[in-house]
Amino acid sequence: MKYFSTKNKNRPFSFKEVVIKGLPDDNGLFMPETFPKYDSDFFESLSEKSIDQIATEVIYPFVKEDIPENVLRDICENAFNFKVPLTEVKPSFYSMELYHGPTLAFKDFGARFMAGCMGFFASENDTEVNILAATSGDTGGAVAAGFYKTNGVKVTILYPKGKVSELQERQLTTLGENITAIEVDGTFDDCQKLVKKAFLDEELNKKINLSSANSINVARLLPQSVYYFYAWSRLKSDKNKIVFAVPSGNFGNITGGLFARMMGLPIDNFIAATNVNKVVPDYLDQGEFLPRPSIQTVSNAMDVGNPSNFERLMAIFNKNWQLTRQIIKGYYYTDEETLDAISHVHQKYGYILDPHGAVGYKALSSYLNGRTNTTGILLETAHPIKFAEHVEKSIGEKLKIPEEISDLYDKEILKIPMGKAYSEFKDYLLEKSGVKIK
Ligand SMILES: *Cc1c(COP(=O)(O)O)cnc(C)c1O
Repeated sequence: MKYFSTKNKNRPFSFKEVVIKGLPDDNGLFMPETFPKYDSDFFESLSEKSIDQIATEVIYPFVKEDIPENVLRDICENAFNFKVPLTEVKPSFYSMELYHGPTLAFKDFGARFMAGCMGFFASENDTEVNILAATSGDTGGAVAAGFYKTNGVKVTILYPKGKVSELQERQLTTLGENITAIEVDGTFDDCQKLVKKAFLDEELNKKINLSSANSINVARLLPQSVYYFYAWSRLKSDKNKIVFAVPSGNFGNITGGLFARMMGLPIDNFIAATNVNKVVPDYLDQGEFLPRPSIQTVSNAMDVGNPSNFERLMAIFNKNWQLTRQIIKGYYYTDEETLDAISHVHQKYGYILDPHGAVGYKALSSYLNGRTNTTGILLETAHPIKFAEHVEKSIGEKLKIPEEISDLYDKEILKIPMGKAYSEFKDYLLEKSGVKIK
């Protein structure tokens, strides 16, 4: 499989190159040149396979020049090693819980798969890779957990002091081993500036091998197409169409679903559900893409004013607005509606949603209203405990601490406090890598 930038069809890249590079230099995004097309026999065979087996089969054509099948199988076994329940919330309405991984959100799939690929490439080249990532809370945790104990890869995560939740801080700071958490006395922007500066620092890059774990890396998208195949294989029936509702921010998760559709998975519609950061629903409605500053909401992982994967949606649909809106249906909701949905679903069905899932619930319910012969699958992207304050208020009950994180509160916190000055950060990176500072 070759990959190209969405902005340049002349220069092909290998899978290994796009994983290590993350982003092309021309401001575009990497996309596979083609998609393998599967036939009905393939789809029928999926119902007998486990999710990690499905992952290996679906992903292999995209990586086969760079990753041997047996290595890919190990990577997938490790990335898909937690349960993915499909819970029936109400008739013909399922919640696919993508939140049983170590950081309790769907980003664990992408982060763990990408970590596996990078770990393999590092071992192949016998080099040490240093991943740098700034986080406002969530992504950093998924990356840190994904790379935990990966040979040949060291991870440094920068987070703003006092601006992440206690749970998030514990997820970043209790791992140890090859994961280092730096607590920056500043904002998320300050953290990001330090990381950006390090990537642009030629002297530093000559001495150590830096890499990013960017959320728009192709290696994070491919595993996000797998659970669409999985859910379809478990819930398909001859009578019903299947649709997916995806709580969306940067639109990476829904892009994974569109990849599955390009491979032949028979899905008519995807439901893009957002909070009031509704640039994509507005585009679907009016035909114009107008990025704007983000607005803070209770479903804060979707507070995105300029979704980075919009470029990929345009590539998939050839910039054809009519075609895009035929396949993707946009819906958006306010915080009040979101919190009401949490309360309503708990009362009526005894099921607990997180705020992101609640936005998706509203959208899917609205879409299904009046449509018969359709099974709706909601991608529940985060565990309610991650947003305990809002959820507990909405349902009027305390949430139980899930077993996935029950030991987090007994572990020792390891962090390196630091100021905002770049020189301090650079010295730290050099020293950690054993490079002498003059
Ligand atoms: C990241 C995230 C989203 C949005 O996913 P995108 O791929 O950015 O659209 C939704 N819900 C949760 C809980 C997330 O962490």
